[in-house]
Amino acid sequence: MTSVRTRFAPSPTGELHLGNVRTALYAAILARAEQGVFLLRIEDTDTTRSLAVHEASLMADLSWLGIPWGEGPDRGGPYGPYRQSERAQHYAKFYARLEAEGHAYPCFCTEATLERHRTLQRLAGRPPRYPGTCAHLSRAETNARQGTTVALRLRVSPGLNLQFTDLVRGPQSFSSDDIGDFVIRRSDGSPAFMFANAIDDSLMEVTHVLRGADHLSNTPRQLLILTLLGLPVPQYGHLSLILGADGAPLSKREGARSVRELREAGYLPEAVLNHLVRLGHPYGDAGLLNLDGMAAGFALSELGSAPARHDETALRHWQREALAVTNWTTLWDWLPTEVHALVPCHDREAFVAAVRPNLLLPADGAHWARAIYSDELDLTVEARAVSTAAGGAFFRAALEVFASHGGEFKSFINELKKMTGMRGPELFHPIRAALTGALAGPELARLWNLIPPDSIRQRLLAGTR
Ligand code: GLU
Repeated sequence: MTSVRTRFAPSPTGELHLGNVRTALYAAILARAEQGVFLLRIEDTDTTRSLAVHEASLMADLSWLGIPWGEGPDRGGPYGPYRQSERAQHYAKFYARLEAEGHAYPCFCTEATLERHRTLQRLAGRPPRYPGTCAHLSRAETNARQGTTVALRLRVSPGLNLQFTDLVRGPQSFSSDDIGDFVIRRSDGSPAFMFANAIDDSLMEVTHVLRGADHLSNTPRQLLILTLLGLPVPQYGHLSLILGADGAPLSKREGARSVRELREAGYLPEAVLNHLVRLGHPYGDAGLLNLDGMAAGFALSELGSAPARHDETALRHWQREALAVTNWTTLWDWLPTEVHALVPCHDREAFVAAVRPNLLLPADGAHWARAIYSDELDLTVEARAVSTAAGGAFFRAALEVFASHGGEFKSFINELKKMTGMRGPELFHPIRAALTGALAGPELARLWNLIPPDSIRQRLLAGTR
C-alpha cells in the first residue's frame, strides 16, 4: 500500500485566512492519521501577485498554529523543489510531450479576440468556451507565426464523459463539451495554475488532494492532463465553503479574518484549530484536541459537503477552553505589556491563576490588573449602588475587622459576618464592589491576596464616605 501523502498548496498572494487554514488542517490531520506525509508547496507561478513576504508569513502562520509540514521549500524533501517558480524544467518536459503527441497546440489568439468570443457566447446563452481558432493550424502556419512566446492549449476531445469520485462529494461527472480547449501555458511562458498544480501533485506522489469547493470544476481538466500524460492521479476531495453566521460567504466583516489578525487579537492557536476542525467534520463532544487527537477522531468519510458556518461564539468557546489549560507562563507572556508593568514579579503566577477564568483576550487581563493594582479604582454604576446601599456603618465595621483580622480573607469575612450579622450576597457583594469596582469577576479570595493591603484599606475607607 502506498503511504498517504497530502499537501497544502497556497499561492503566496496574500495573508492566510480561515478557509485556507482549515484546508491545511484537514490535509495535515489526514496524513497524521495515516502516518503519512503532509507537504507544503508554494504555488507562485503568478509572478506579479506572488510575494516572498507572503510566503514567509504563511509559513510563520502555519508554525504559530502548530501545523508542521514534513517537506517544503524551507526544509526540502525528495520531491523538490517545492516552489513552483523553481520547477520550470518539469513543466517544460510535459509541454513538449503533449505538443509532440498532438495533445497540445500553440494558440496565437489575442486577449481581445478571446474576450470578444466570450461575450458573443454569453449573449447566445452558452458557456464561454474556446472556439478552436488555432486548433487546426498547419505546421507551416504555426512555424510562420512562431517567434514570440505563445500560449499552449490542451486539445480536449469532444463528447468525453469525465468522471471521478470526490472524497467529500461522491460521484462527479463532467462533459468535455463544456470544457473546450484550455490554456496550460500562458503566453508569457508561465504555467497555468491548472497545469502546474496537477503535474506537481502527481510528481510529488500526493495521494489525497483536499481543497476548497471552488476548485471542483478544475478537477476534470486536471484529470485530462494527467491521463493524457499517463501520470498517476490523486484522489480529490473538495471541502465545503465556510459561510458566516448569517449564511453568506465569509466577508471581511465576519470571519474572513487572517490568521495574523486573530493572533494579534489574542486568540490562541489551539482555539483557532479546535474551532476550524469542527467546521466540516463532527467531533462529537470531544473537548479541546491537539493534532494527534484530531487525527485520531478523523475520518475522510465524515467530511461534510454542506457549507459550514463560522460563528464567533464558537471560536470564543474554544478560546476559553484553550485558556483553561494553557500553562501559566505562556499565559503570562500572552498578556499585554500593561499587565507586565502593573503586576509585581512575585504576584505573577497568582495573578494568572486568579484571573484565568475571566479572560478571553489579553485586554481582559489588563482590566483586572488595573482593578487590582491601580491607586484609583472606578466603580461601575451597579457596584456603586451596592456599596452605597451597604452603607457607611458596614464599611466602618469592615475597616475595623481588617485592622484586627487583616491578612487572610477567610478570617476577615468570618469576623465581619459575626460583627454585622450579614451573610451571603449581602456580605460579599459590597466587599467585592468596593474592592474590585464590579459585582462579578475572579474569585474574591484570590483577588484579596493580590490587592496591596494599603489599597484594601483605602477601598474600604472609600465605602464609608
Ligand atoms: N494554489 C491553489 C490555491 O491556493 C491551490 C489549490 C489546490 O489546493 O489545489 O487556491
